[in-house]
Amino acid sequence: MVKCEYTEICAFFNEGMPDRPAIANMMKKKYCARNPSACARYMILKTVGKDRVPVDLVPNDGDMAQSIIAEG
Ligand code: SF4
Repeated sequence: MVKCEYTEICAFFNEGMPDRPAIANMMKKKYCARNPSACARYMILKTVGKDRVPVDLVPNDGDMAQSIIAEG
C-alpha cells in the first residue's frame, strides 16, 4: 500500500466526482490509497507536470494520459 504523494494538490482527490461519489470513492481506494502509479493523473504529474492535468481527468483514463504525455 502506497498512498499517493499528490493528494493535497489533486482536484480529483479533493473534489471527487460530485455526480458519482460512489465511483469516485472506489477509485480513491484503488488508485490514491493503493496504486497511484497506475493513475492517469499521477502519470501526467510525474512526467509533464501539474499544469497539464485536465481538471476532469479520471484516474482510469490511461489513454488520455498517454496522449498528453506523448505531446510532451
Ligand atoms: S487521483 Fe491519482 S494523482 Fe490524484 S491523488 Fe489519486 S492517485 Fe494521486
